[in-house]
Amino acid sequence: MSSPAPAPVAIVGAGPCGLAAAVALHAVGIPHIVFEKATVASSIENYPTNLVFFSTPEKLVIGGVPFECAAERPTRREGMDYYRAVAATHRLDVRERECVIRVERADDEFVLHTRAERRDAGAGAPSGPVIVTQARAVVIATGYFDYPNMLGVPGEDLPHVSHRFVEGESAVGHEAVVVGGGNSAVECAMELARCGASVTLVHYETGFVSHLIKPWILPEFERQVASGEIRLRWSTRVTAISPTAVSLLTDDATATLPARVVYLMTGYTPRPGLLGELGVKFDPTTGIPEHDPATMETPARGVFVAGVLTSGIKANGVFIENGRGHGALIAAALAARGAGGG
Ligand SMILES: Cc1cc2nc3c(=O)[nH]c(=O)nc-3n(C[C@H](O)[C@H](O)[C@H](O)COP(=O)(O)OP(=O)(O)OC[C@H]3O[C@@H](n4cnc5c(N)ncnc54)[C@H](O)[C@@H]3O)c2cc1C
Repeated sequence: MSSPAPAPVAIVGAGPCGLAAAVALHAVGIPHIVFEKATVASSIENYPTNLVFFSTPEKLVIGGVPFECAAERPTRREGMDYYRAVAATHRLDVRERECVIRVERADDEFVLHTRAERRDAGAGAPSGPVIVTQARAVVIATGYFDYPNMLGVPGEDLPHVSHRFVEGESAVGHEAVVVGGGNSAVECAMELARCGASVTLVHYETGFVSHLIKPWILPEFERQVASGEIRLRWSTRVTAISPTAVSLLTDDATATLPARVVYLMTGYTPRPGLLGELGVKFDPTTGIPEHDPATMETPARGVFVAGVLTSGIKANGVFIENGRGHGALIAAALAARGAGGG
């Protein structure tokens, strides 16, 4: 009598790095399923509408699928289309709109509890029935874009306050305050100013970390600052947000700025979530989940991590360029272990 087929490897998250893991497993013949609570490359869909990647296409390629784009660097739309083409080309088994809500260890295997989003339910928590799937190993590639760094100030949850910038058209003629010191804050401020908003950029440091800013946008940013289209407030913290203003603290001096829209471009930090439930610890200083960088396996045997989730609080430590290689390490480790994988 033939033995039953081994359970697949379950990958949680169909961002670029989860997809890269699926492609790598496919290449070594290990069956797998990708669970994605939204859609393939939804993190890229959530980029600002007019964003252009800082990476050139060859640094974003996965699975040998050519990445052609009209200019030197891809647009958001080209990036989204590319990763969806990768999933289609390799016929990856991606279960879109199926959120993994729990993972349990069961002897040498894992049991995943997922819940599919009902199409008629509208936005919000997935509400379909719970589906149970067995897996021989799990790859957690859930990113961190669900967890923006909160300022923890009163008013942060007001409707005109956002941790995500899409486009600036609706801010025309309004006072806008942007908080942050990285590239996202700079590009957000620039786009708002281009759209005719009156923009102030607030950052608690004394200046930008210049290597984080795309070099080719700096001349235009400096022009917007010199012309007064963007005002800068260094060494300044936001202490409260009201429906019409933000309260600021610079050294010991307080001030109030009118603000009809507020963008908190303060980065992200991964949360333990599913990994924590599986017993994986996060370093309290770096925020990095415990794992072997040679295999991406955590101390919980059969539990692997991939992608930006492994960067911890240093949000720019891992991105597509260097996270897309995690899948090959995982596939090699599982292939070396044989069909059981556990
Ligand atoms: C504006 C902007 C520009 C960028 N430009 C570049 C660039 O030029 N080059 C570069 O290399 N990087 C760039 N990055 C970084 C890049 O987007 C991330 O490094 C990349 O998305 C990480 O991929 P990932 O697969 O690890 O995670 P993500 O892309 O975040 O994917 C995680 C996926 O997991 C899903 N998920 C989460 N929880 C669950 C769950 N419980 N069940 C099922 N699914 C789940 C999410 O819906 C998501 O689709 C940029 C980022 C931003 C914000």
